Amino acid sequence: MEVSNKQITLKNYVTGFPNESDFEVRITTIPLKVPETTQNAILVKNLYLSCDPYMRDRMSKLEGSYLDSFIPGSPLTGYGVSKVLDSTHPDFNKGDFIWGFTVGWEEYTLITATQSLFKIQHTEEVPLSYYTGILGMPGITAYAGFYEICSPKKGEKVFISAAAGAVGHLVGQFAKLFGCYVVGSVGSREKVDLLKNKFGFDEAFNYKEEEDLNSALKRYFPDGIDIYFENVGGKMLEAVLLNMTRHGRIAVCGMISEYNLEKPEGIQNLSCILTKQIRMEGFAVFDYFPQYAKFLEMILPHIKEGKIDYLEDIAQGLENGPAALVGLFSGRNLGKQLVVVAQD
Ligand code: NAP
Repeated sequence: MEVSNKQITLKNYVTGFPNESDFEVRITTIPLKVPETTQNAILVKNLYLSCDPYMRDRMSKLEGSYLDSFIPGSPLTGYGVSKVLDSTHPDFNKGDFIWGFTVGWEEYTLITATQSLFKIQHTEEVPLSYYTGILGMPGITAYAGFYEICSPKKGEKVFISAAAGAVGHLVGQFAKLFGCYVVGSVGSREKVDLLKNKFGFDEAFNYKEEEDLNSALKRYFPDGIDIYFENVGGKMLEAVLLNMTRHGRIAVCGMISEYNLEKPEGIQNLSCILTKQIRMEGFAVFDYFPQYAKFLEMILPHIKEGKIDYLEDIAQGLENGPAALVGLFSGRNLGKQLVVVAQD
């Protein structure tokens, strides 16, 4: 039986900031069965799609990247949560819920590359949508980035940029639970208020209202920053380098301020890495996927006991996906941005 399958496709490769008009809604059809000749595949109904900054890279024509470009005219793919409708894969059965990397921006997807999929042991206690965020890729990113890359010690002073986003608001709460002093930078007063009054950050500031980022950081870190959780790069990184303590650590999670620039800005003050013996280390979440079970053991009780607060920004309907996705680059989202395609 063939059914209608609404999709979001990229019209053409993007240069500069992406716009909603770079995408289009397309209606095709799809059989709701894995073809008998296709082994180790699943046919899924997509429920929730994750909007992630790395997807900007995939809108460009990439060469020599660890990511593949989106194919103009084909549906976007990314992280998402789906329900298995049919399977020829021994590990997945009809009725299973999965989250993972190969979900299409469409109502139904035939997934043949199943290696980066996780089967969800769903309980009624946490919403399925959480597997696009706190229980999915951004959650493990925050966990690995903070506990493994930052090597935190109790009482240390932690600074987080893009701190009200999917990863940032979790890192800040992990750091508070660990006993650190935590400050976040964000792009609006509403987000400053969220960090201080909902997520328990010690301090927060709006980087768009600061004339001099170096002075702003000195105001909140008179004795210096021990740990910087880097999400934005550019001018913020330059100012942070001046304010790091000796033997400070910088976990380079992302550099979103540079993703839409044709020519990346040069970073000044890199000599601070030498003079202050700073460890600056980039990491990729997929290297930590083998620790997913251990991560769940830690995070699920925290959620159930209310020790971690989690915020979702939910766009309803596939057709609203492009606006939600491009909104990441102007800071429109509060917390984790996701798109609801269908309820289970
Ligand atoms: P997010 O923070 O939920 O959304 C992006 C946020 O970035 C926006 O809300 C906006 O917040 C901020 N932003 C956008 N343009 C900016 C600019 N020019 N300057 C400063 N801030 C800007 O996204 P996320 O999913 O949590 O990702 C955060 C970072 O982690 C991104 O850099 C992403 O690429 C990276 N990441 C890396 C990995 C990995 O494996 N290493 C995994 C996941 C995510 P404001 O309103 O505060 O400006």
